[in-house]
Amino acid sequence: MSSVAQTKKFFPRRDWGEVLAQSLRSSDELLAALELQSADFPNGLSLAKQFPLLVPRPFVERMTKGDPHDPLLLQVLPLAAEDQLHRGFTADPLGEQSANVATGVIHKYHGRVLLLAASGCAVNCRYCFRRHFPYNENRLNHAQWQSALDYIAQDTSISEVILSGGDPLMLQDERLADLVDSIANIAHVQRLRVHSRLPVVIAERLTDQLTDILTRTRLRSSLVLHVNHPRELTPLHAERLAKMRQAGVTLLNQTVLLKGVNDNLEVLIELSEQLFNHHLLPYYLHVLDRVQGAQHFDVSSRAAYALYQQMLTRLPGYLVPKLVREEAGQPHKTPLHVF
Ligand SMILES: *Cc1c(COP(=O)(O)O)cnc(C)c1O
Ligand code: SF4
Repeated sequence: MSSVAQTKKFFPRRDWGEVLAQSLRSSDELLAALELQSADFPNGLSLAKQFPLLVPRPFVERMTKGDPHDPLLLQVLPLAAEDQLHRGFTADPLGEQSANVATGVIHKYHGRVLLLAASGCAVNCRYCFRRHFPYNENRLNHAQWQSALDYIAQDTSISEVILSGGDPLMLQDERLADLVDSIANIAHVQRLRVHSRLPVVIAERLTDQLTDILTRTRLRSSLVLHVNHPRELTPLHAERLAKMRQAGVTLLNQTVLLKGVNDNLEVLIELSEQLFNHHLLPYYLHVLDRVQGAQHFDVSSRAAYALYQQMLTRLPGYLVPKLVREEAGQPHKTPLHVF
């Protein structure tokens, strides 16, 4: 027996659904796993319940035990700071609920539509601008799927369909395959894009079947992951993403600039370099959307622009993401400038 086969025997490749089902769902559980106590957070933990803690175990395994400032932990732990209201931080900062043209379809940008393909996520990110989005009203039944597809079919200006969510990779591969087939049947659609964070927290989600779905269609496919810190990436990501890239999927990453997590030049440089080592190109660096409950992650525009300018002096151009913000009512991402 070869050593590879032996390794597989002793470390069976885990099924992503099983890993997902074993996710942590309470602050107590997470703190215990990290050998931390609530007293390690002097300003306290959140008592609100509407956007609960949710984090898969492989992501917890990448956190440092005993470190209350761990950059991965801060992205998922509900702190009391979330419960405070701040002027300018609102429930729907992007006005998405008004661009919700059909159930599950957001059409705000020229040529591209977002299809909210799944309502849940594998991880609840505390800074998320969708934390107040009425997903339950956007969970599609069969007839609604059809009307979402009809909406795309009747508008020939749509050349790209972006599967978003929630997290579209919460769908099983079989369901995803059907959806991609239906989209490919619409002649004017040329490109398919998947925006997902699930494979970052559970690398096993990058299945061979997913690669097949994204490459056996006539559509040109890209996968945009959402990695915020270099420690989120693992050798399994490198292995799985190498396979996807070899098969012809364009692989990109978007990052949200987060205070206390990645608002640091050396971290951002290491992130770009590690993304490249894991076969991903940095696409966007987003400043935070001003969503209620996320104010403690906010980095000022001036500080964000200064970091971006320093990145330009240290990295090749293809490893510098575009620094953008999302503005309500604007039909594109807005590059950030500070004059
Ligand atoms: C970000 C976004 C897109 C995609 O924008 P690109 O610049 O093409 O990456 C499309 N629709 C909405 C509503 C978005 O927020
Ligand atoms: S939509 Fe993305 S950023 Fe928001 S909670 Fe889900 S995985 Fe996290």
